[in-house]
Amino acid sequence: MSQTWVVAPTCPPLVVRRCHSCPSDRFRASGKFRVNAHHKSLDVWLLVLCAGCGQTAKLTVFERVNVRSLRPDLLDRLHTNDPGLTAELLQHPAVLHRNGVALDWTGAWRLDVTGPGLDPGPGPSPGPGPADDDALEVSVRFAAHIPLRPVRLIADGLGVSRAEVKRLIDEGKIVSAHRLSGKAGGDFTFLLKG
Ligand SMILES: [Zn+2]
Repeated sequence: MSQTWVVAPTCPPLVVRRCHSCPSDRFRASGKFRVNAHHKSLDVWLLVLCAGCGQTAKLTVFERVNVRSLRPDLLDRLHTNDPGLTAELLQHPAVLHRNGVALDWTGAWRLDVTGPGLDPGPGPSPGPGPADDDALEVSVRFAAHIPLRPVRLIADGLGVSRAEVKRLIDEGKIVSAHRLSGKAGGDFTFLLKG
């Protein structure tokens, strides 16, 4: 039996950044950009709002970039405050790095479990071991780069505790070619033996 689990964003993540006006350290995307032109060069910022007091802060997207080096459709999207572009830029590693900020994905994603879809594939299952008839093969896909612990995702998807998942890993009942400790954020698969 095989399932596909998809980790999907449900709303933009929060930006971890200290506010200068209040004790909050979380900002949310305002959905707006600011574009300043100096002759042929552009500065572009993504505007974010403090979750505590609403204070506006700017995240640098482009600094003194030549206007000709930007694709026209990108300029259109900047000028129209394209909501999809906010999400794209917010998750862009270079933008996060340039501004020294991280993202807080708490409550901003969900796990979609599709199946159980019986896989009627011809021939024997490629899984290891002879008693795999009741095994569940799960392919976990990330629709966005969301750093999450595989143990947590497996616990959520199976509806069991994280301690139970760790026990199953220790006992060899859950196996994967990927490292299941630490944080993922990239696709992985695992097998739950029956
Ligand atoms: Zn604030």
